Amino acid sequence: MSIFTPTELAFIARHGFSEAEVYDGRGQSKERREREAREQDKVLVLSSARCRAAGHRIRTRAGHCAQCKPANIGFTKRETQTGYVYIAGSLKHCLIKIGCATDILQRERQLRAEGYGGASDWRVLIHDRVANMQKVERDISDRTPGQRAHRGYIKDGIEQFSAEVIRCSFSSALDAYITVTGETFDRDAVLKQWSGYEFSN
Ligand SMILES: [Zn+2]
Repeated sequence: MSIFTPTELAFIARHGFSEAEVYDGRGQSKERREREAREQDKVLVLSSARCRAAGHRIRTRAGHCAQCKPANIGFTKRETQTGYVYIAGSLKHCLIKIGCATDILQRERQLRAEGYGGASDWRVLIHDRVANMQKVERDISDRTPGQRAHRGYIKDGIEQFSAEVIRCSFSSALDAYITVTGETFDRDAVLKQWSGYEFSN
């Protein structure tokens, strides 16, 4: 017999997971189940601690109810994914965006098509493959000075996350990027190539 209820099984399947991909953290402390799930690279956890809102048992490894807010699954997945961190720029709006994606060309097209942050001329200026792309993205963003503009971002009819674009020069973001990724390349050549993105705001 499955350790999941029929409702839970349907939920798991609907989000593309098998039963085996859900960490069985029943009877474990919050710390233990979250740590073990992380070590086993499992996004979802079956917990005996039910969610307050509706009594659900399936949480993300980060501890949030996956059933109340399935968008949490995406956040947690992205947290440990290997992929590309990038800096993109919009010439027209003098904006910089730091982001991460598994497919960089597809992401560039998507940013343009969706008019991310109000701009549709995004161009990826530099990118690098990293583990934990979400964390690297945050670290670079934290180190980049400049005024933030937040805008709600809708994808597939769901508010995924808040768009964050930065008013800064490309070099400010690039220096943060170099510090965090430790990537070595000819900084001056990169800045020269994208000199139009050296915004003075
Ligand atoms: Zn819930």
